[in-house]
This record gives sequence, structure tokens and C-alpha cells, in this order.
Amino acid sequence: MYLYNSATHKKEAFQTHTPGRVEMYTCGPTVYHFAHIGNLRSYIMEDVLEKYLRQAGYDVNRVMNITDVGHLASDADTGEDKMLKGAKREHKGVMEIAQFYTDAFFDDCGKLNIKRPDVVQPATGCIDEYIKIISKLVDTGYAYLAGGNVYFDTSKLERYYIFNDHDEDDLEVGVREGVEEDANKRSKNDFVLWFTKSKFEDQALKWDSPWGVGYPGWHIECSGISMKYNGEYLDLHCGGVDNAFPHHTNEIAQSESYLGHPWCPQWFHVHHLNTPEGKMSKSKGEFLTVSLLEKNGYDPLAYRYFCLQSHYRKALVFTWENLDNAAAAYGKLLNRIAALKPGGEVEQAVFDEYKAKFLQQMGNDLNTSMGITAVFDALKAKANDATKLALIGSYDEVLSLSLLEKAAKLREKAAQTVQSGAEGYVITGEGDPEIDALVLKRYEAKKAKNFPEADRIRDELKARGIELTDVKGGASWKRIEP
Ligand code: AMP
Ligand code: ZN
Repeated sequence: MYLYNSATHKKEAFQTHTPGRVEMYTCGPTVYHFAHIGNLRSYIMEDVLEKYLRQAGYDVNRVMNITDVGHLASDADTGEDKMLKGAKREHKGVMEIAQFYTDAFFDDCGKLNIKRPDVVQPATGCIDEYIKIISKLVDTGYAYLAGGNVYFDTSKLERYYIFNDHDEDDLEVGVREGVEEDANKRSKNDFVLWFTKSKFEDQALKWDSPWGVGYPGWHIECSGISMKYNGEYLDLHCGGVDNAFPHHTNEIAQSESYLGHPWCPQWFHVHHLNTPEGKMSKSKGEFLTVSLLEKNGYDPLAYRYFCLQSHYRKALVFTWENLDNAAAAYGKLLNRIAALKPGGEVEQAVFDEYKAKFLQQMGNDLNTSMGITAVFDALKAKANDATKLALIGSYDEVLSLSLLEKAAKLREKAAQTVQSGAEGYVITGEGDPEIDALVLKRYEAKKAKNFPEADRIRDELKARGIELTDVKGGASWKRIEP
């Protein structure tokens, strides 16, 4: 596989420290609110990458943190803790907020077919790890105490900026309005490893440490959690592009100073999902969540399809119109797959040829739009339906668009559509002739203007847990949960 590496600014052959094994780390969500669909773009693309690597034969250990402490309003370590802000907003405890939004995050991931990482670790569960790392950094002179906090001393590094040649002005990145500068820092680049003094006295979560009661900085969490579960050599670190500076830059600074050797050679950054007005935000404009997509009648997987159509290294603009186009294309694709007949022998030679092409195209810096094109190519292949279905199923282990499952449902539904009566009154249901007969009887009663009988049958259906909807040219029914 060839993957663009933001640390070297080049597309490079993918390599791992231990042959055949990938130690992969992903920055997880800050659980003070729902994830917006921009955050989820990052997780979708990282999910495809993980699944691709598995299909290419790697044994992947994927680790993700849950940021439930230490991520302040500004990425430059100032302002209020985001978790505390969330707790205040909802008049709840910080841990209650964390649990609620962690669950909500994984619900959203489930709806988008994003696999749960092998290890998911809330940051509050690894305080000892951070203290161990910070203690060594203090002992070896990479960290200093000032004003009650422990800071990483970036002047000790030969090279601090890894991803870009920043200058001082770039430190404005991540600094939000109304956030003051921290006068304790010896240099603007220095960052907090451990807070004991914050101007927000009501910081809810605090732990004892050699430097006083306090809490960890956001950056140390990812280094600590990764070293604990991925070991000393990380192969691949992922996150949204806004994390590259200062978060990932600081992770590298502290991890390599602690370990005394290079830490992670490959960095995968997903570019942003924007709105036509600019950066997507949880506070400004429409708060775009998976629930909102569902409320507006979209299948969350149409959003996944929308993301896969574009390359992860390009900013993507979300509009409802763009989503409509993706949803229509996804629907058409499903209908075409549904038209294939399951059963029969797979033509192995054709399968192997197409599969190799898919792996090669996707392996070119995770070209997901070519991955989708590969599905269309499989549909057009000179092969039998069994081979086409096998190919699509295999691609979908990586794309995760539920192509076979959804196509099978469409096929089933088509089979269950009953043509009844001379005028072609169409009943669409779940394939129960007894219920179909009752629905038809009600239709005939209505036609004969015997409304009491029609109502009686509707009530009977309801009592049997059947929800009936009159539609143009017929009726449709489904069983509802009691
Ligand atoms: P957070 O919950 O703020 O810690 O962010 C979770 C993940 O979403 C991080 O990897 C961010 O880099 C990423 N992210 C934030 N905003 C966007 C966006 N608009 N588009 C894509 N990824 C984003
Ligand atoms: Zn991180």
C-alpha cells in the first residue's frame, strides 16, 4: 500500500515495525457533546483504512482514546475544560456527560458501520501512565514547573514542527476568541503536561500527583494511552487535520523525549468536512449530527457513501443537495445489486483478477472513490451473478456500505409485493398471505362503501400488531414491536 504521510509530505510505501502487524492509534472524540458529521468523516475514513489493512493481510491493533478530561476550549491549553462546559450546559456531572456522549458516539458509529477499535480507553483511566511519563520528562529536563503547572520545554528539541514549518503566528491555530495567553510558559510553543492551577477552580476531576492535586493536559493522554496499548513503536497515527498542530506535534515531542527514540513514522490526517459557510461547528449554524440526518429521512449509510466518493485528503463541502445526490446514487447502486440473482458457482479466475485490481486501486493512498467505481465495474464484469455478488461482498468488507444486506432486503421486498385484484391493488408487506388477505378484504369493503367493516378489519390488524398505510395504488403493512 502507498499512503500519504503528513510527516514527510510524501506518498510512501506503507511499512510496519513488526512485519505483518500494524500498531494503529486514533485520536478519539472529546465527549462533551454529540459528534458532528465532520468528526465522523474522520472516523469513517480511518475505519476504511483499518479494514483495508486487514484485508491486505495485516494483523491490526487499533487503539483509541476517549477524551473525558483535559481538552480545553483552546487547543493551546487555555480556557475552560470542554467537559466542564458540557456538564454546566446540561446541569449534570462530568462523568455522567462523558458516559452519555461516549455511548452516543458509538451509536452513531454503529449506524455508519464504523467498527469499534480493538482498545477504547477513556483518558481518566490512565492517570498513572501520564504521571510516569511526566515524572521522567521532569527528571530529564524536558519539563519544568511554573505557576503550579508542569510544562513541556520545547526549546530542548532540535526540531519541534513536524508537519509544517510554522512560525509564531501560526500558534493562533486553535486559539479561540476570548482566550488569554498563559504567562507561565517560557516560550509560546511550550504546552501543559499537568495542571494544578487553572483559573477555573471548579474543575471537577482532579487527581493527586507529585506536583499537587490536578489533572493531565490533553496531549499527554494520547501519548500515554498509545504507549500503554500499542507499545513503544507506533506504526500509524490518525486524526483530523486540525489535530496535526498543536496536538500531534506535541504528542511527538513528549513521546520521543520520553522514549529516547523515534516513535511513530506514519501520520494519516483526514481533511475537514466544511459547510458552504466554512468550518463545521457544534455551536454555530445547524448542528449536523447523524440523528439530524435520520430525522430528515436519510439512511446514515448514504452519508458514508457521500464521504467515500471523495478523497480523504481533500476538504469536502456538505450541503443537503450534495447528500441528496449521494443518497440517490447509493439507492441506484443497491437496486442494481438487488437485480443480481444469488446462487451458483463463483468464477475464481475472474474473482481474483478483479479483487487484485480493487486492492491495488484502494492501496493507492486509500482511493475510496475508485473503491466505489470498482463496485460498478464488478456489476459490468463479464461474469455470472454469483461472481459479481462475491466480488461486491468482498469489496464491502472494506467499504462497509451494507451492499449485500440491503440488496437482499430489496430483493425480498420485491418478492413480497402481491398483485391482487383486477385493478392491480398492490399490497407490500412482509410476505404473510393471511395478513395480505385481510388487507385485501378491507380494500374490498371500502370499495363497497361498507366502512364499518373496513374499520373493523383495520382494528383487527392493529390488534395483531400490524401497521397499515394506504399508499397510491395499494397499501403497505409492517409488523411493529409490541
Ligand atoms: P474532537 O471531538 O473535537 O476531539 O474531534 C474528534 C475528531 O474529529 C478529531 O480527529 C478531529 O480532528 C476531527 N474533526 C474535527 N472537526 C472536523 C471536521 N470538520 N471534519 C473532519 N474531521 C474533523
Ligand atoms: Zn490525540
